[in-house]
Amino acid sequence: MKIEQFKTEVIHLRKKTALITGASRGIGAAAALRLAEDGFNVIINYNVNRDAAEMIAGVTGGTAIQADVSDPVKVRDMFDIINREHGDVEVLVNNAGVSFTGLFTDITPLQQKRMWGVNVEGVFNCTREALKTMISNKSGRIINISSMWGQVGASCEVHYSAAKAAVIGFTKALAKEVGPSGINVNCIAPGVITTDMNAGHSQETMEELAYDTPLERLGTPEDVAKAVSFLASGDSSFITGQIIGVNGGLVI
Ligand code: NAP
Repeated sequence: MKIEQFKTEVIHLRKKTALITGASRGIGAAAALRLAEDGFNVIINYNVNRDAAEMIAGVTGGTAIQADVSDPVKVRDMFDIINREHGDVEVLVNNAGVSFTGLFTDITPLQQKRMWGVNVEGVFNCTREALKTMISNKSGRIINISSMWGQVGASCEVHYSAAKAAVIGFTKALAKEVGPSGINVNCIAPGVITTDMNAGHSQETMEELAYDTPLERLGTPEDVAKAVSFLASGDSSFITGQIIGVNGGLVI
């Protein structure tokens, strides 16, 4: 057997590979743990928190890879490493995100660029690379993490809401474009989830948000990870282009 053929066969014997962006903490880390439980070889992307990403990699038996998703060159390099060492990405979870609050009139051009770069262009950059192999394989799952604020808008989070709305539009359009190639593209719109992203809110604000939620609690990263697991599984094979709210009923 030729070496190249042997390598290809070994890659096919491997577990399916799932790349989760922003998996060092919060929702991404929970999704990585859950997909590892589901039998995936998980790739834990991160930006700065290497120790946390390595810890999740250790627990899941996966691999941590640094790349700022807003940088298309770094994203291409990350995919080169993954394709060479782990085979094709079968499931891409576009989860990496940043948020900051403030009046729209106070948002600086730099903050605007960062918000758009990570939350929107990051999704574009990773998806473009993943599709290169998904289209030729005629198979793949893309799961985008938006937000309920992308559905209904939030005061003092105009740039975040706009970025997350863009992810919803991206999901719907791409689902139509790549459906014939056997690729499902879906979106999860979480409500208020207890992660570092909400650490700046006071306990009182968090209690009020829980009170306003029909299911009377805040969400956990694991609540979102369960939806990711479903969308990555064979059970969701006829679902594409959908926006799934994981928000306890806060937005219906
Ligand atoms: P989090 O706890 O703040 O974690 C953010 C993750 O994104 C970290 O792993 C971080 O990596 C990574 N990240 C940030 N910038 C990155 C970049 N440029 N390149 C690569 N990775 C980057 O956030 P979270 O609450 O889990 O949120 C995850 C996703 O859910 C985000 O898209 C967020 O908008 C969305 N969401 C969250 C909530 C919520 O209530 N928490 C609600 C709706 C939607 P490092 O650790 O290396 O910085």
